[in-house]
Parts: sequence; structure tokens; C-alpha cells
Amino acid sequence: MSRRRRREEQEERWRGRGVSEGVVVGRVLRIFNGTRQVYHATLDESDVDRETRRLRAAIRLARLQLLAIKARAEKELGVEHAYIFDAHLLMLEDRKLLDDVENFIRDERVNAEWAVKVAADRLLAVYAEIKDDYLRERGSDIEDVTQRILVALSGEKPDYRKLTEDAIIVAEDLLPSAVAELDFEHARAIATDAGGWTSHTAIIARGLRIPAIVGLRDLHRRARTGDTVVVDAQQGIVILHPSESTVEDYRSITSNGASVRYPVSEEKRGPLRTLDGKEITLRANVELPAEYEDVHRFGAHGIGLFRSEFLLSHKGLMPSEDEQCEAYQEVARLAGEDGATIRLFDLGGEKFGGAVTEVERNPALGLRAIRYSLREEGVLRTQVRAILRAAAHGKLDIVLPMISDVSEVRRARRLIEDERARLESEGKETGPIRIGAMIEVPSAVMTADKMAKEVDFFSLGTNDLVQYLLAVDRGNEAVADWFRSLHPAVLQSIERTLDAARKAFIPAIVCGEMASTPAYAVVLIGLGATNLSMTPSSIPRVRRTIEGIEFADAHQIALECLECDTADDVEEHVRVRFSKNWPHLFPPKSLPAPRDAE
Ligand code: PEP
Ligand code: MG
Repeated sequence: MSRRRRREEQEERWRGRGVSEGVVVGRVLRIFNGTRQVYHATLDESDVDRETRRLRAAIRLARLQLLAIKARAEKELGVEHAYIFDAHLLMLEDRKLLDDVENFIRDERVNAEWAVKVAADRLLAVYAEIKDDYLRERGSDIEDVTQRILVALSGEKPDYRKLTEDAIIVAEDLLPSAVAELDFEHARAIATDAGGWTSHTAIIARGLRIPAIVGLRDLHRRARTGDTVVVDAQQGIVILHPSESTVEDYRSITSNGASVRYPVSEEKRGPLRTLDGKEITLRANVELPAEYEDVHRFGAHGIGLFRSEFLLSHKGLMPSEDEQCEAYQEVARLAGEDGATIRLFDLGGEKFGGAVTEVERNPALGLRAIRYSLREEGVLRTQVRAILRAAAHGKLDIVLPMISDVSEVRRARRLIEDERARLESEGKETGPIRIGAMIEVPSAVMTADKMAKEVDFFSLGTNDLVQYLLAVDRGNEAVADWFRSLHPAVLQSIERTLDAARKAFIPAIVCGEMASTPAYAVVLIGLGATNLSMTPSSIPRVRRTIEGIEFADAHQIALECLECDTADDVEEHVRVRFSKNWPHLFPPKSLPAPRDAE
């Protein structure tokens, strides 16, 4: 039935924002935030019977749980409120549905979780079409029952974390909490309803060098696990149920997707200088182990930003001190002589929203990053101990995220020294670390001169700086036009921060996404930045650009930009001056397009 249905389905197209390069044809893996993710596994013929027994056992368990919940609901809420569980029980007793799932396991030789998910997705699609509001909303009951079965199945803890070879992740939004549970070695592309250029979906996709499109509005609701889909991040187009000729067209350009990661030329290490001799250092931003090998491949000088919150597991389970220590040692090994900067957990906000903190009304302004860590001191102390211990075996620094006041630095510093003393009294070896502050909140910029006296270095987070300075949600495509990295207020803030660092003789590194965009990188250098950190695959492109410019020119252009009144004026100025000075480096398409032309 499914094949017939799929053949009849019409090609549907979505236009979004391509935030990472590449074109891929694959199959949808629809994931939900905050709910259990499902993995595909192909079974040996001999395992099929065991798998159907596992499914039946899970359904029996789910049914017993539901009977108990129903009895409790009847007692505590009254019979009239317990009927909802009858609907759930009926679903679990629906022979036809269960036969379909079992047949799917047998015919396709897949794990029970996958079969349950495919069946549920199909059922949900039928419900989504129902005109009657009440009945349509019963779709949430299906999701609920599905989750219950999946949880019951997980009782045996099978290791089904692998994705299918051609999985295209389709999500409303890809929170790190979901990322933590996915095996991204096998993800071919990402397509999300929400998100913008600096959202974490985009950052992860670029880090993994897989195509990604964000801002697709309702793709997640329309797509079903297993559907064929084309993700064309060059043009920002997603095609669901592509016709055979569309697939053929795309396959011819993707050479059947043989190379999942988009190719980027490998690069040498060695000092990098502008034409007039200004030395610039390029480092790597890293989130997931799947990105580690790129740090060397693209010639990064160590790790400028390790986003440690990606060590948390699904639903925010904290790794232990020993687990963290091991992870930081691995990062230090990877970074070698050049060292790595570990950012303390930047939790809350867009990241792990609701998983470790209560759901907040305004999470970006809520209990995020250093605020969370100072509130949950136990979490902070464990992380600090792990970093201090790992620092005995490699070169590590700590950077404090989302600092808005000098007092937060002082508190964190005291706590770090406290833990060092405690470790030493326990006879445990620790290593030296420097402590830096992320400058990404306007108040930190305004007090940068004071802040510079309290820390060993600055890390400029331009993603959040633009978000907080211009009051524009970095993950909301609807306001993407207001996210102006070249806004005069942003440039003035960067200049002010770099200036404060210079006067205090401390280094400053720019590690937001601006650093990885060649035109913006030149503006940053013109403003005085000499250390940039970025997703490793961007390093070759940025490096080639820097090798071809004169610092003196970049500086002059940056000064002129600082005099502009509006973001439009800055962009226009950059367009005119860059294409005149360096036409070979900045063909018109590489520069920000005029707004009214979009
Ligand atoms: C930033 O805000 O620019 C930054 C580097 O950190 P993140 O993107 O993880 O918030
Ligand atoms: Mg940030």
C-alpha cells in the first residue's frame, strides 16, 4: 500500500534559506525535540522473530502502564476524565495496526522502533488531513502512544543509534538536545522549519559539512519518515516526493551522493599574513566528535571554541567528572601545542531549552550559560574539576559564556580556584589554565575596559552579540532581515571590545559566525582582530582571502564603515570598496546583496 501511495504523491517544493553548501537526495528521518529519537537498523533474518517478540512485550508493558494510569485517573479525577486512556488502549489493542507493524518488521527486516515510527507517521499523516478539528487533534494521542511504546522498547537498551545511510534529518528546530542523541556520521542533510544563519542547526551543519536548509515553515508537519526528499542547499529548495525525472536530474549532479560531505580543498598550516605582513591566526570552533578530524585537515591552529554543552546527552543528562575529563583530554590532544579553549556549558536559551532548565517565557534572556552554572554550582564545579584535571595533560583554557557583569567573572574565578585547591588537597594533578570571558552581551561591551582587567582573554561571540545588540532572535527566520552583522552598532561594539583588550594587553579572539565569512572576516581584521575562530572547513577560504589583502586597506575601509549611519550604508560601502580593491577575491556574488534586490 505504501508504495502505491508514494507513487501517487505529488512533488511538493519548499523554499528556505540554505545555510550550508551541497545537494543531496535521501530519505526523511523526522525527529521531534524533547521526544525519543528513533534509529534504523537492518536485522539478520534470524533476528526477525526475536524482534517481533520484543515488540509484543513492549506493547504488553505499555498496556499495563496505561491500565494503571487509567485506574489512577479514574480515582483521582473521575471516570469522565479517564476516557482519554481508553483511546490509547484501543490503539494498543488495534490488531490491524499491530499486524501492520509486525509485517513491516518482517518484510523490511527492520528494528521494532523503526517499524513503530513509520506506522505512526503514516497514521499521523492521515489524521493531519482530517477536516474535523477535534478528530484531527487526536493525532497527539497517536504521538503519545508511540512515545510510550518506544520508551517500553528501550527497556532492553538495544544499540540502534545508527541512521540509515541516506537519512535527511527533518525537524521543527534542531536543538542540541536532539543532536546529542543522533549519530551524525551518517546524516546526509538537515532541513528545519525554524532557524537562521547563526542558529545552531546551521552551525552544526557547516561543522559537519552537510547541506542544510532552515526556515521551511511547515516541512516537518508534511514530511514523513521514509519519504524521498531532495535538499538543494545551493538554491535553498527542498523537494518532497520528487518525481523520477527530478531525482535523476539531481542524482546526475550529486553523483548519487557518493560524497556525503561537500568537498573542500585541504590546507597547509604555517603562519598566515596579509600582503603587508600582519599576522593572523585561524582556529577551529568544534562541537561534535564527527568534526574533530577536520581540525587538522584544514590547518586550524588549535581550537578557539569548544562548545562543551554538546557533551550532554539527550534530555540534558550530565556527563560525570571522569567522562568530561576524558573528553577534554581528547580535545587537548587534538589541539596539540596550540591549545583549546573550553567554553563552560552554555545551557538554556536556544540550547537544550527545557531539557535542563524549566521552560522559560523568554529563554534567550533567561537562566542561560554562566547564569545557569552559577545557580547550579554542582554542575559548574564538576565541569571545572574535569577541565583542571585534563589541563595537566594538555593545553586548555576556560571561557565563561554570556558574561554580563564583572561580578560573574569574579564568582566563577573564585570557584575555579576553590576547586583547584580541593583537587590538590585530594592529591590530584591539575594544570595551568587561563580564564576568559565571552563578550556577547551589550553590557559586557560597555564595560569591556573593566572586564579586561579581570580576565586573561576575550572571546567575541558575534552571533549573540548581534542578537542581543539588535534585539533580533538569531533562530527566527521571520526576523532574519533584521540580523545585520554589519550594523554600525555591531562594528562599534567589536571595535570597542578589541580596543579594550589591546589596552589591557590581553588577546581577543572572534569566534562567532562572522569570522567564517570572508567579507566579514576582512572587516573584522580591519577593526583590529588578529585571532579568528571558525568552523574548520571555512578556514581555507578565509585564509586565501586574508593572504590576498593588505591590512592597511582593510583598516581604512573599516574606519569608513564605522562612520556609516545604517547597516545598508555599511554593506553598500563594503560592496563598493571590496570590489574595487580586491575584485579577484570578491566577485559581486560573494558580497552582501543590496536589501531591495532580495
Ligand atoms: C556566539 O554567540 O557568537 C558564539 C560563538 O557562541 P554560540 O554561537 O555558541 O552562542
Ligand atoms: Mg554565544
